[in-house]
Formats: sequence, C-alpha cells, structure tokens
Amino acid sequence: MSIVGQPPAYFFLASSIFFILVTGLAIWKSNLRLPVTRLLIAYTLLSASLFYLLYFRDIGYLWMFRPDVLVNLPFYGMLLLAWVFLGYTLAFLRTGAPGLRGWWAGLLPVTAALLFDSDPLRNLADVLWRSPTQVLTRSAAAWYTLQAIWALLIAVATLLVLRRYAQTVQPLHRNRLKYLFPILAIQTGSGWMLLANYSLPGYSLHLLVTLLILNISLTHSLPDLRKISRQILSYIIVTVLSTVLLGAGFLVAWNLTKSTTGSNQFWAGAAVVGVVAILFTPLLALIRRLVDRLLSGSRYDAAQAVREYSHSISNILDMELLAAIVVGSVRETLHIKRGHLALVERVEEAGEKGYRLRDIHFEGNGDLRPGFLSFTGPVAAYLVQERHPLTQYDIDLLPRFQTTGKDELKWLVSTGMDVYIPILAHDEWIGLLMVGPRTSGDRYYEQDLGLLSALASQTAVSLENARLVRHLVELNNEVQQAYNELNRANQQLERLDRVKTDFINIASHELRTPITLVMGYSEMLLGDAAIQENPYYSQMVGGIRSGSVRLHEIVDSLLDIAKIDNRALDLAPKAISLPSLIRNIHGGMEKAFAERSLSFDTIELTNLPAIEADVDALQKVFYHLIVNAVKYTPDGGKVKVMERLVPADKSDLGQDSVEVIVSDTGIGIAPEIQELIFTKFYQTGPVNLHSSGKTKFKGGGPGLGLAIVRGIVEAHNGKVWAESPGHDEAAFPGSQFHVLLPLRQPLAAEEGEPQPVMVVSDGLMR
Ligand code: ADP
Repeated sequence: MSIVGQPPAYFFLASSIFFILVTGLAIWKSNLRLPVTRLLIAYTLLSASLFYLLYFRDIGYLWMFRPDVLVNLPFYGMLLLAWVFLGYTLAFLRTGAPGLRGWWAGLLPVTAALLFDSDPLRNLADVLWRSPTQVLTRSAAAWYTLQAIWALLIAVATLLVLRRYAQTVQPLHRNRLKYLFPILAIQTGSGWMLLANYSLPGYSLHLLVTLLILNISLTHSLPDLRKISRQILSYIIVTVLSTVLLGAGFLVAWNLTKSTTGSNQFWAGAAVVGVVAILFTPLLALIRRLVDRLLSGSRYDAAQAVREYSHSISNILDMELLAAIVVGSVRETLHIKRGHLALVERVEEAGEKGYRLRDIHFEGNGDLRPGFLSFTGPVAAYLVQERHPLTQYDIDLLPRFQTTGKDELKWLVSTGMDVYIPILAHDEWIGLLMVGPRTSGDRYYEQDLGLLSALASQTAVSLENARLVRHLVELNNEVQQAYNELNRANQQLERLDRVKTDFINIASHELRTPITLVMGYSEMLLGDAAIQENPYYSQMVGGIRSGSVRLHEIVDSLLDIAKIDNRALDLAPKAISLPSLIRNIHGGMEKAFAERSLSFDTIELTNLPAIEADVDALQKVFYHLIVNAVKYTPDGGKVKVMERLVPADKSDLGQDSVEVIVSDTGIGIAPEIQELIFTKFYQTGPVNLHSSGKTKFKGGGPGLGLAIVRGIVEAHNGKVWAESPGHDEAAFPGSQFHVLLPLRQPLAAEEGEPQPVMVVSDGLMR
C-alpha cells in the first residue's frame, strides 16, 4: 500500500466507527435544537455511512453494483458531503435556515450529477457527441459535471464565509469565523486529493475536517487566534533576538580567544561567557516585555484604574456629567470606540413587565434608542442574577439565550455594543454600562471583564445618588407645575366668586324694591277695614305679607354676604350692652319660642362692661345664632345664652374680651363639619327638606346665617366657632356656638354710654 494509494478495508471500518463515535459525542454534548448541531450530526452520519459502504465495497459485499459505480462511490459521497457542508456553513453563519425548498434546490443538481454519472438504468448513450477528431463520452461529461458541482458548492460556502467575515466587527464573532477558513481549505484539499486519486491523504483530511467541525461546534469560547498568532510571533522575535545575543557573545569570545594564547585564552572565553550569562536573563526578560507591549496593544494596571475611577466619579450628582465621566474613563482605560451608561427602571404595567433602559445622554455621545428587557427574558435574568458582564457573543450563541425575544435581540444588536455590565444598588438593578468594540479590534479578555465589573460596582453608589437627585428635581418640577396650575385654578375661582358675589349683589338690590312694595301694600291691605272684616281675605293678605317678609329677610342676608365678600361691611362701632341686645332679640322671638315650647335662659353677668360694636351687625349675629338654636332643637328643648368676660391673658384675641355662648339641646353637629357650616350656602341635609318657616324644627334655610355670623364677628376682630359632641337626632346632644369679641375696636367711632338697641317687632333686621 502506497501512502497515496487506496487504503486497506479496515481503514474504512475504523473510520466509520470513528464517525459513529463523533456522532455520539455531538448528540451527547450539544443542543439538538440548534440547526448547526443537527447539520453536524447529518455530516458525521453521512460520513459514517460512506465509510461503511467503502468498507463493504472493499470486502466484496457490494457485488450487485456495477464496478464503475463502485469506483466512483467516494466521489458521490464527497458531493453529498459538500452539499451538507454548505448547509452546515449556513447554519454556522446563522444566516437563517435555507428552508425545505433551499435544501431540495441544492439536492437537485447533486442528484442529477449522481444519476448522470452512475446511469442506474443504463439507458443513457455512452457517446454524447462525436466529431471527426474528438469524442465526448457520457462518463467523461458526468465526471466533469460531478467536479464542477462539487467545486460550486465549496465556492459558495467560501464566498458566504468571506462575506460574513467582512461584515462582522465583533472580535469574538470574527474569531469564531476565522476557524472556518482552515476548515474550508482542508475540505477543499481533501476533495481535491480524492479526485486526484491521492486516496489515503484525502480520507485522512476528511477525518481532520470532521474533528475540526466538531470542535468549533461544541466549543463556545474558542481560543483567540489573534492572541495565539501574537504569542507565536512574540516567541519567534524573542528567539531571533536571543540567538543574535548569544551569537554576538560567541563571536566576541571567538575573537578574543583567537587573539590570546595559553591560559589567557581560557579566561578570556570564560569572561565573555560569564558576561553573556549575567546579561542574558534580564535582557531576555526586557525583550519579552518590549515585544509583548508592541504586539498586544493596551496594558493597564487594574487596581490603579479602579482607584482613579472611583476618585473621579465620587461626589458627582449630575446624571449627564456622571455618564460622561464613566464612559470617558472606561474609554481611556480599555481603549473602546464607544460606550453608554443606561438608566434602568422597573416597569410593572398591565402590558409590560420588565426593565426599561434609557440612555443617559451627554454631549459628544451618540444617541441610543430606549430598550426594554422583560422580567422573564434570559438577558434580564442573567444580568440581575449573575451580576456579571454579558457579551453580545454569548447572547448570540449560548443556548441559554435562545429564548430571548425578537425585539430585545433587535435592540441589543442595534446598540452595536460588545459587553453589557449590570449596575446594582441594594439588589435593585439601576443601570447598565455598555461598551462597544475596542480600537485595537481586540476582544474583551477575562481580566477586562473583571475590570469592567469592578468599575460597574464602583458606579453603583454614584448612580444611585444621581438618580435620587434627578428624581427630586423632577418631583420638584412637578410640584411647581401643580402649584402653578393650582394657582391658576384659584385665580379662576376667585374671579368666578367675585362674579357670583356681584350677581348676588345686583339681583338682591333689584329684588329688594319690589319686595318692599309687596310688603308695604300687604301691610296697608291688612289695615284696611274691608279686608279685616273678611277673614278669608285677611288670611290671604296675611300670607302674602309673611311670605314677603321672609323673602325680604333672605334678600337682606344675600346682600350681607355680598358685602362681607367684598369687604364692604359698613360698621359703626359704638359702646353697646350685650345682655340687653340679646334680651331684645329674644323678646322679638317670643312667639316662636312659645310655638315650639322652647325655654330660653340667659345667664348675664351683672358687671359685664359695654363692648364696642356695630349694633345692627351684632344683632344679626345673635339673631342668626338664636334662630338656628330654635330651628335645630326639638319642641320642648332649651336654648341658653351665657356671657362671660375673658381677660386679655386668657383670650385668643390677646385683649380683654367678652365671650357669648349660645347653646341648645338640639340635634348637634358632627365634628367634621363644625368648621364647614360657616361657609356660605353650606347646609346639612337634603335641599328638598327646605321649608319657608324659619323657626320650624329642622326647617332648613339658604345656608347663609353662619357665614354672615362669621363675616360680621371677624369684621369686629372677633372669633366664632361651634362645639358639639356630634350629630344625633335621637339623643339630641346639643350644640354650642362661641362668639368671642374684643371689648374695644381699633377704630371706634365714638365712646360713651351704652346705646339702647332697637329691634323691629317682627324680628326683621335692617
Ligand atoms: P341655614 O340657613 O341652613 O340654617 P346656617 O348657615 O345658619 O344655614 O347653618 C348652616 C348649617 O349648620 C345648617 O344647615 C345646620 O345643619 C347647621 N347648624 C347651624 N346651627 C345649628 C345648631 N344650633 N344645631 C345644629 N345644627 C346647626
């Protein structure tokens, strides 16, 4: 057996067993869902079948086939293998599976060539074309077709790899692709040798190709060819330089020993050898270092880099500035082309549950589209759980990241980044440092990833602080905006309130004249003898009169409110006696008290001094309070008025004051509305319970009484408030209204004796 000739039969048997083993290894070690694994298995199985067939052929089991078919069997196998190899290349390049149609389209010319060559039915002409000088036989034509299709398949695979290599920028991917070149070369060499009848080397190269394919398919982190070639180059340079060094030493020793004689010769040689020996080790180390630095580009001291980095980012609270420094420092240390610092926010809305990533943009750094990584996606899970840098290469190739969503992958690829480093603060993922390719075109080695990890953890505190500050600023802006809006709304409300007050003012003035007329005429009619004689008419006129009196009262209250709102209360404070004022009010309401069987009690202080106040206004205050006490106390209840002197040091007003307390045994007031009832138009209970009778139990009114009370009391620099254990229409806890008035008014009109108080007999105030 020659080295180039036909191998013996057991070679084929051993090879087929080898292929079966390789297939088993591939099935055991790799992910069968990956197209590249399936094609690898197809390739090894096809190889195993081919070698079995060759073994059977050589031991004579395939006697039923024609000898010419048996001779060409390796070429058929080679063609089919080239077809599967093209598929494998496509899967390796991840250009997307060719699809069923693609497979058939590839298989068609292969089958046609096989049939054309083997002519299984023996129905093809042996001579295809004949000229007087030349003859083209079928077998020759078939042989050329076979070779052409094989060359085409290999050429297409090579072109695809070359194109992809030119398009790829990521060093790790480029490194992976580089492995395909020797494989393609050996594959071509193997085919060519088989065709040229160098069978044994051809088959051996095929075994080698299969091993290489198996290796690149099963190994994720392939050795860095660039680094290996650098090491080899460095080794060569160091060897050459040390040879030169030793050679120079040898020459010097040679020349020295030549010129000296005897024992001197020995010592001269020994001296040179000694000098070379002393210098050799440090010189070698120096050369090695120089070559290393020259070839492997950037070098850095990781500990110092981290120290300088943490120093430069500490105390920075501005997000953009922080991002600029972070990216700038990483760029400087690792010589990267570009990088980004993205802010990570947890989003838990109905539609999306995951992390939103927004670039912290700063001057001079390109824009990065915001991205979204779902909680359940493998990328977010890895970054949060492993807290370790993740390379785009891993995402592209590792089975663990196969389930990454399409949108996520698209976004990650669009960033053009090589490594993603998570930044976590208190177990919360807050940022992502993203670094692009290095200017040297080198990949990121383990120590680079370690450095990036350290830098990311240094960034956590600063980023967290900057984030909080930004959040505060945003919150502040929001509050400011809300405040501005509130202010605007307030101004609008004030304007509306003014318009309303103006309207009330005008309407009340307009109503007052006709009501006064109706009131006057009805009084005249009541005095008319003819009406008095007719009880029916006198009752009707009496109704008109009391209705117009009530209307007049309401209109008056409205005018009071308008005056209070416009701060236009016309007050003429004079010294008045409160007890007599209250007695007079009660006197005007005796009928009402009698109708409702209410008792009226007043506890007067004999030595109560006169206070300075506007008589009319103060009458309105106590009139409304006593009317309310009557209105909200059930029949048979009690109304009590108490007065007391409050010395300046005990008074909320800071001066000597009088406190009048109007209390009743009525339904009481719930604590939460004890302030609200003093706002105008505020009433408790449903509006439809209104009754025109102003002293009827729970009669209801326009909701103006207490607003007028507060307006007048405050205009007198006093205070009014309500106290009650609560509202209860069964237990009747009662209420107390406190009116605190200063004895003196700052601008008292005149001082003198207490004025007698005038009360209109029907209780109507003017
Ligand atoms: P109204 O015209 O409805 O009486 P007011 O301003 O005088 O309007 O009173 C406002 C609300 O305060 C009343 O609707 C009533 O619910 C409550 N109120 C006033 N005085 C008393 C009181 N003495 N006892 C219980 N509730 C009262």
